[in-house]
Order: sequence, then C-alpha cells, then structure tokens
Amino acid sequence: MQDVIITALLAAVTAAAGLFLLLAGRGKGGMTGNQKKMMVRIFLSALLLFGLQFLPAEAFNRLDSLLFPSAGRLARFACYLLDYLLIGHDILRKAARGVRNRQVFDENFLMAVATVGAMALAIYENGEYLEAIAVMLFYQIGEWFQSYAVGRSRRNISELMDIRPDYANVEREGRLEQVDPDEVAVGAVIVVRPGEKVPIDGVVLEGSSSLNTSALTGESLPREAGPGDEVISGCISMTGVLKVRTTRAFGESTVSKILDLVENASSRKSRSEDFISRFARIYTPAVCYSALALALLPPLVRMLGLGLAPEWGTWLYRALTFLVISCPCALVISIPLSFFAGIGGASQVGVLIKGSNYLETLSQTKTVVFDKTGTLTQGVFEVSGIHHAALAEEKLLEYAALAESASSHPISKSLQRAWGKEIDRSRVTDIQEQSGCGVTARVDGAAVAAGNDKLMRRLGIHCPECHQAGTIVHLAVDGAYAGHIVVSDVVKPGSKQAISALRSAGVDKTVMLTGDARAVAEQVASGLGIDQVFSELLPADKVSQVEKLLEARSGKGKLAFVGDGINDAPVLSRADIGIAMGAMGSDAAIEAADIVLMDDDPRKIAKAIQISRKCLGIVYQNIVMALGVKSACLILGAVGIANMYLAIFADVGVMVLAVLNAIRCLFVSKG
Ligand code: ADP
Ligand code: MG
Repeated sequence: MQDVIITALLAAVTAAAGLFLLLAGRGKGGMTGNQKKMMVRIFLSALLLFGLQFLPAEAFNRLDSLLFPSAGRLARFACYLLDYLLIGHDILRKAARGVRNRQVFDENFLMAVATVGAMALAIYENGEYLEAIAVMLFYQIGEWFQSYAVGRSRRNISELMDIRPDYANVEREGRLEQVDPDEVAVGAVIVVRPGEKVPIDGVVLEGSSSLNTSALTGESLPREAGPGDEVISGCISMTGVLKVRTTRAFGESTVSKILDLVENASSRKSRSEDFISRFARIYTPAVCYSALALALLPPLVRMLGLGLAPEWGTWLYRALTFLVISCPCALVISIPLSFFAGIGGASQVGVLIKGSNYLETLSQTKTVVFDKTGTLTQGVFEVSGIHHAALAEEKLLEYAALAESASSHPISKSLQRAWGKEIDRSRVTDIQEQSGCGVTARVDGAAVAAGNDKLMRRLGIHCPECHQAGTIVHLAVDGAYAGHIVVSDVVKPGSKQAISALRSAGVDKTVMLTGDARAVAEQVASGLGIDQVFSELLPADKVSQVEKLLEARSGKGKLAFVGDGINDAPVLSRADIGIAMGAMGSDAAIEAADIVLMDDDPRKIAKAIQISRKCLGIVYQNIVMALGVKSACLILGAVGIANMYLAIFADVGVMVLAVLNAIRCLFVSKG
C-alpha cells in the first residue's frame, strides 16, 4: 500500500518537474541556472526511481544465469545507487566537506548519515532501496522550493525598491546625453524629463513638475517641485521637464544611501536569528548522539540485560528515522527570511530599518521620546514679529540672517528666508554655533550673537521678556542688546494622530524633549496629548534625560528616540532604538539612527511598530510550529511508530509551511 502511494507520488513529482522544466525552457517560471539544474536532477531521479518500481527483483535475477551468480542483485543495486548519487551527490559532498572542516553537525550531515545508513540497511536486509532514495529526493525537493521561494521574495523586494536610476541626462552642446550617474560632478546641471527618475539629489533651477515619491516614502500623493526646491533622487518626475543643479555626488545621494541600507540590513542579526544559529549548534550534535544511543543502547540492553534477540536492524532504522525528523532546516531558513521580508515590507511604506535586530527591538518598544523641532513640528519657522531696540527692523533681520548663514538649524534657515536677499559670505567671519542656544559671529566686523535667553545669559547680556508667544531669537551687537525676532513653528498635521496611534499600538509613555522655551514646549505637548515634557535642554541634557528615562523604565520595554538629527545625533545612538527623519534630517542623523522615516511623517512610527510586532509574531509561530511538529515526530520515531517517509514529510512539510508563513512578512505593511 505504502509503495503504491510512493510510486504515485514519484509519478506526480516527475510530471511536475517536467512541467517546470518545460516552462523554464520557454523562459517562464523565473528559475536561476542552479535551480534549473536541480530541477533536471529531480526530474531524472524521480523518473528513474519510478521506472525501477516496475522492474521487480526477479527481472534482474535473470542476469545471474547470463553472467555470474548474484550479478542480478549487483545490477539492481547499481541502478539504485546511480539514482541515489544523481539526487544526493552534492549533499554527500557538503557533508564530507563539513567533516573535513571540523564543522560536522549540520543538516547535510544528518541527511547523509540517515540516507547512507538506510542504503546500507537495505543492502543488509532485502534490497528495499526505495525508501533511502525517496527520502533524499523529497529532501532535495524541499531544498529547491526553499531556494526558489527565497530567491523570489528577494527579487520581489528589489523590484519594490526599484529606485536605482540607470542614467542621468546631461546637456552638452545643446543635446541631451545619457551618462552614468556616477560620472556626474557635484554642481553639474542635469535634465529630468517626465517619466524619468531623478538620479541625483539637487535643487531645481528651471521648470516645475509633480514628483512621485511613493517608491521612497510610500506616500501616494505627488509632491510639487519648482525653481529653488530641493529634489531627492529616487523620485519620479511626472509632468514637466526639470533642470536640476546637483548638490551631491551619486554615491552620497539619497538613493544610494537607501540601497546601501537595505542591502546591508540582513547582516545585523536579531536575537532570534542568533538564538537559532546557537540552538542549531547545540541541537544538531545532541540529536546525532541521541540517534547513536538509540541505535546502540536498546539492542545491547535486550541482548545483555534481558537475554532477548538484539534486533540491530530495527533499532538502526529507528535511529535513522530520528535523524531525518530532527533536521532543523525549517527554522534555519524561515527565520532570516521572515526578517528580510519584514524589512522589505516596511521599506515599501517609507520606513527604512537598518537591521533585523532593530525590527526586534522595535517590537518591544514601550516608551517613545520625541524631539520637538522638525520632528513633531514642521521645523519651518515663520517670522511673526520683530521687536527692535537699538537697531532698525531691517538691520536687525540682516544681522540675524548673516550671522546664521552657516547654521543648518531650521530657525536659521527661516531667518535667511525672511531676509530674502543673497547672502554675501565674505561679510561673515568667526561663526560659532552654540548648540541648543544659537550662534555667534562677526558680521562686518561687529560681534553679533543670535539665540535664546540662555545664550544672552551666557554672554552676560540682559534681555527682556517678550509678551508674544513663540520662539524668541534675541540679538546682541558688540555686547549690547539690539532686539529680538519672534519666530513660530507649526505642528505637523499628523503629529496628534501619531501620538494616539502609538497609544493604540501599545506604547505606554510618550515624552517630548526640547531646547525651546517652556511655554512653547508645553503648548505643543498638551495640544498633542504627550505625557511628559522636558524643555530648555541643551543637547547634552537631552542625552542625560534619555538616560534617566532608560533607568526608570520598567521591565523589558524598550525606549525609542525620534529626532531630526539637528544636534540630537548623540541621543539617537544612546536610546535603545533611534528613529530619524529622513527627508528633513541631517546626514549625521541618518547615519546614527537605526530606523529612518523617509517622509518625516511621525505617524509612520506606530506603523513601523505594528509591522515589527506582526513580523516577530510570524517568527514565533514558526518556532513553535517547527519545534512542536518535530518533537511529536521524534517521540513517534523513537518508539517506532514513525517511519522514514513520515519523517521526511514532517521535515520538508514543516519547512514549506514555515517558508510560506515567513513570506507573509512581506505583506504585513498592507492593511
Ligand atoms: P529642539 O530641541 O526643539 O530641536 P534645539 O535643541 O535645536 O531645539 O534648539 C533649542 C533652542 O535653541 C531653540 O528653540 C532656539 O531658541 C535656540 N537655537 C538653537 N539654534 C539656534 C540658531 N541657529 N539660531 C537661533 N536660535 C537657536
Ligand atoms: Mg532639534
């Protein structure tokens, strides 16, 4: 009965493999060269094995009278051995290499010992080779499937991340030429036509267009860009022709950075992955020794202790079955695949996760700490009042803009914008950024200080209180108070929703840290529903505040810090997990962060936490399923209820299920 089922299965495998090869021959199916070769081996081996089932031993025995005694048995063995080597030679070779390199115990070793043992047993007993070869064949089918599925999902991800530009258009002598983006110098002018990707980061000189940023941010609404706007590489220009002056080299552009991150993400291993490889290192030898014990001890006890027949064959068979069942490949393969797919899925919605370990930490996040400016607020300050004392309004703004000309702080950008004239850098010297306070510089020879009251106090200059709400930039010229400019920032439209989404994603506590004045900080925090605020902090205070929060947290919950990286890069690396705003944020922040939000939308944090939880859920499902099925089968195998067919189906079946389950991680970002 069992042989009939196996024969039918062999016929099905032959037919399916043949069909796959036919499809591959027509350029369909997407198999790689190695996968095709494997498929040919599966096809030939299944076909031969199927054919041999219809040649009974008696058919071979006729050779005995033709040649020499037992020539028939030998010929039959040769046929099966040929088939066995055809399907399993690479496993045997890998197992031998493992033994030579003193890394004996892996799944190749398990399969090699089990099938060689079964072949030996078959010679010794009655020539039933089918089982040993079928086990190897089904194992190889499983391996093929796994390599196919992994390759497929890898390709899926890189297609989704299809942001790598192939060329840049450069105008030469009135004609457009396509050149390798790597060859375009910083400051060169490139042309982006409708339907093309922006190849390099830059600033629009001429033309306007709607940009599709969805490949970078997951945001489907197009963004308008016109003269003076920054464009980042990887966006697709949809409507107009843009002339862009590049501000970075290709290798430094957003697109290259993202691809680097995603490609290197899998090298940072999560604890679960580490656990599995450590587990396999202990588990596989343990299984091998148990199998050895199972093969030796019961027969010895029967023989010496109980005076019964030892039944060596039975116990050897049980031991081999035990080996096949315990092959750990379902876990070894599915867990890294789950993380890889989860990271790929997250990148589709504009969340870049730099490694599996961060995905894992993110899933345990209980406290989220925010920076204010540029993170919860837009970081685009409008000048809402100029209160002058010693100088005229226009002069005050001019000094402020010039002194701020080298700063990358959002405030300085807005002051320069408000002044609105070209900055003559030669008028400014001795620029010093006072992190978290402001700047000092010499403008036209006069010592100018621009910043908050902390800066003024530091310089020993008395400054008045301002009645107007907003962030105050005080100015002092040559040690005398000159007036102040009130700037105000707007909360991002998604910030409030982001905080409530975090709460429903299971985050217990939200905190805001800012260097801004207390009144502004509290107004923003209460509007958003943030639990705790700390204001008037210098960048170093932010680090110590986060350290305090890290100490105070309960149990295993992790702490995430979200910032735009303008002077908070140290905090980003101090927190359990650092999340940076990608579009607004500085390069230093993107470097220091573990997770980058491509479109600066704080709502994506909750989304990322949900993705990480689902992904980890799938990982745990696979661990429980694989260990559960395997331990049940191991017990059945040890008491002799399971045979080797059940064993191989338990092994390959669990692996296929685990891999299919892992692929679900790709889609967790949807819905
Ligand atoms: P946040 O914590 O909100 O991101 P920062 O630490 O960047 O704020 O800055 C804190 C405060 O320091 C600002 O609110 C502002 O008053 C002052 N400040 C920092 N940099 C500048 C600057 N370049 N020009 C003027 N004021 C500045
Ligand atoms: Mg900041």
